[in-house]
Amino acid sequence: MFDFTSFFADRLDALHREHRYRRFRTLEREPCAFPRAYWRSDSGQRHEVVVWCSNDYLGMSQHEVVRDAARKAIDRFGNGAGGTRNISGTHSLLVELERELADLHGRGGALVFSSGYVANDTTLATLGRLLPGCVFFSDAGNHASMIEGMRRSGARCQVFAHNDAGALDVALAQTDPRLPRIVAIESLYSMGGDIAPLQQLVAVARAHSALIFIDETHAVGVHGPEGAGLVAAAGLSKEVDIVQGGLGKGYGVVGGFVTASATLIDFIRSHAPGFIFTTALPPSIAASALASVRHLRDSSIERHQLLERVDEVRDLLSHLQLTTVKGDSQILPWIIGDPVRCERIAEQLLLQYGIYLQPINSPTVPQGTERLRITPTPLHTRGMIERLAGALAHCAAAPSIRTQALPLIEPGTLAREKHIRRHNVTELG
Ligand code: PLP
Repeated sequence: MFDFTSFFADRLDALHREHRYRRFRTLEREPCAFPRAYWRSDSGQRHEVVVWCSNDYLGMSQHEVVRDAARKAIDRFGNGAGGTRNISGTHSLLVELERELADLHGRGGALVFSSGYVANDTTLATLGRLLPGCVFFSDAGNHASMIEGMRRSGARCQVFAHNDAGALDVALAQTDPRLPRIVAIESLYSMGGDIAPLQQLVAVARAHSALIFIDETHAVGVHGPEGAGLVAAAGLSKEVDIVQGGLGKGYGVVGGFVTASATLIDFIRSHAPGFIFTTALPPSIAASALASVRHLRDSSIERHQLLERVDEVRDLLSHLQLTTVKGDSQILPWIIGDPVRCERIAEQLLLQYGIYLQPINSPTVPQGTERLRITPTPLHTRGMIERLAGALAHCAAAPSIRTQALPLIEPGTLAREKHIRRHNVTELG
């Protein structure tokens, strides 16, 4: 008889031994107080902390227009969506949100999903499954949701070196141009904070007539004209076939979307199981996401303030000579390079300084590049930044947890190996 309990327990033990066990911190956020929050320790005590690792990059989850829209929608329409869009009706707020997103990205259509993960997974899986002989070309640093979608599709997948347009060119040149080929990349990589060389990658994909899919989960709302993302900022909206985005990060709500031509959107709408067979997002979420998108189209104050804070924290990290990944975005990783040190530093920051930074270990990042990922927001004050500086300086110098003097790491150096190993994809060239 198979011993399920021992199997599960052994696997969990292995995670502990390898320092890959995920420990969650219980947090309570309060409206109007973010990035302040309360951490509830195991003993149940509440401690005030400052959150430095949220993806709510602009603090929109707390914005009055967003909260107000959610409240009004609940009062008017109730809470749940009542079922899938397929059998229970599509709420007018979702239709309005999709129109707004299509307009923002200059596309024929948009489709909203319950998360950014689902948007990636089900769109790529559907394309790979239905396009005859489809071949994916996947950046080595791609997010698990894209990798999973490509893997599940059963289509061939060629992994190319992170952000390397030359490698993509070689890989594309080695495949039959008559096959439908899809290049899948991100515009902003969330663990390294690095921005893809979009002009080069898109030019290569275009030259080989490949379809281009770009994940802008961490860029929409935060970058580009009216928050339309980095593809729009690079003037490439017309060149890129599918832009995927998230509603849970820069927009501060939850959900994901793809925008593309009306025909492509209709194709996904009609075939993607992750869209068809799941309960729709509730009206309050659609309303608050719509309010957030509209607000960030009209207002750039949040984006400017974010950039100012990011510059201050970036200067601080470089002043403290802490190892970072070269990047140019709102995400500032401090590479610690050891899972135990990473956890110890995070623990000390929390207990001694009330600073919440979640340690990021393998397999989210490759072994040896364990890190603390610092994400300033417009709501972090100068005082908070100064306290962060003092705390980081102290932790970095403490002999018990001194960090390795690692060289600057090119993002994705180790990621390619990880991508191939984790997802068992086929390399062609
Ligand atoms: N794409 C990327 C690049 C991500 O980093 C994430 C999650 O962090 C997702 C997609 C999934 O987005 P969501 O959190 O909305 O499911």
